[in-house]
Amino acid sequence: MHLHSRLAALLCLPLASLWPVSAAANATTDSRPNIIVILADDIGWGDAGCYGATKVNTPNIDRLAREGRRFVNGHASAAVCTPTRYSMLTGQYGFRRDVVGVNRSVSNGAAPLTIPTDMVTAPGLLQKAGYHTGLVGKWHLGFGLTKPDYNKPLNPGPLEVGFDEFFGIPATNDRIPTVLVRDHEVVGLDPADPIAYTYDKKEAEALGLSSWAAGRNRIGWAKGGKAAWWDDTKLADIITREAVQFIERGKDRKFFLYYAPHNVHAPKIPGPRFAGASGLGARADMLLEFDDALGQLLQTLDRLQLADDTLIIYSSDNGAYETDENGHRPGGPFRGIKSTSWEGGTRVPFIVRWPARISPGVSEDLVSTLDIPATITAAASVALPENALPDSLNLLPALLGENGAPRREDLILQCGSGHLSVRSGPWKYIPDLDLVEGWKSRKKAPGAPARPGLFNVAADPGETKNLASENPAEIQRLAELLSRAKSTPATRPQTSAPAVAL
Ligand code: CA
Repeated sequence: MHLHSRLAALLCLPLASLWPVSAAANATTDSRPNIIVILADDIGWGDAGCYGATKVNTPNIDRLAREGRRFVNGHASAAVCTPTRYSMLTGQYGFRRDVVGVNRSVSNGAAPLTIPTDMVTAPGLLQKAGYHTGLVGKWHLGFGLTKPDYNKPLNPGPLEVGFDEFFGIPATNDRIPTVLVRDHEVVGLDPADPIAYTYDKKEAEALGLSSWAAGRNRIGWAKGGKAAWWDDTKLADIITREAVQFIERGKDRKFFLYYAPHNVHAPKIPGPRFAGASGLGARADMLLEFDDALGQLLQTLDRLQLADDTLIIYSSDNGAYETDENGHRPGGPFRGIKSTSWEGGTRVPFIVRWPARISPGVSEDLVSTLDIPATITAAASVALPENALPDSLNLLPALLGENGAPRREDLILQCGSGHLSVRSGPWKYIPDLDLVEGWKSRKKAPGAPARPGLFNVAADPGETKNLASENPAEIQRLAELLSRAKSTPATRPQTSAPAVAL
């Protein structure tokens, strides 16, 4: 490196790298925000009034949008849970990690930890920068080095990849084990009634395990652990209360809360306050329950006078699994559902609120849950180590209205079966329409030719007109873009993510 560029690099060092740790941890002289990332489960683009819904009443999501920046072109990085959650913490595309649940499908409750413990993560960077970090809600990224034993400490897990605290659901609310975990331990487990489980049907039969757990059939088979079973009707209240308490405990220090409610994932069981409340069905009831939980978080920030200095990012881990619930359209105008490569698989709500710094408005910028790690670490003035969060773009300069702020030009999206598609400008490129339905796609005969799809999603959000045959040059450009992204370890130019000096 030439001397002058080295000097320039030095001058660009963010302030935080020069601060002593004690100063960084002192809330009274620290202008960095508290950070809350809210990642809902299966909530679609059209699931709130601020995104055009007319049959559901979502005053708290709408308030967040009114007071923040609402993105209409936001995407989950994958059309299913686990890879989006993986990328949201690591800033790395799921396709780079050859593990079931990350580059294809989703994890189950038997998955080992999917994030290597030596990998740089956003919560780990925030923790090192003096933030108190916590995850409340759904984890779904595995525990341990092999199939986890829920009767023993679940280590490594969230606490080994950057969280000071964890409370929540191991995998999904429709998978065993149906127990809540705090830090490394199952809450309320009776050692005399240990948990046995499997996701293998033959093994389940041999061991006499049942898919009946906590009052209904689940995915997987188990027995034992009954004293620790959750009650589906109380899950939302328990998780919300934990999140509120985390904020209350953190009021005198900088905190990062990753709040991951199970709403509106199956089995769709709202608490008693919301059963029947929407008049539309159990999914919409759970949506109202989520909106209420969000309201409780916002009120807690108001009460503690933390709202101005707290950065909130709200999004969802994938699109909705339904296209219609008695006239309500969870996916808005978009085609397809969770797991598919259609826009409805990944187009999700994306709202950012930071009253002290970010002016409210609506943005058409292409953004992704993948960009959350670089954005929140930049807000905390963390200097990224080289190669850290390799595919995550820092959205903060754009959010703050800085001239020349980098914008995302393209984005790779992963469907439920792991096949990739590309968004770039108005375009959506799907390499093979025979695989577009994700895990519901029919098996393709070996050697059968691919049927490329090219859609102008700006003009045709419903992806009804395949323009592939009319635009071979665009197809070639996007195919090359995808191939280049796969063959290089990072898609973010290393110069495009300066931390913002506050
Ligand atoms: Ca999900």
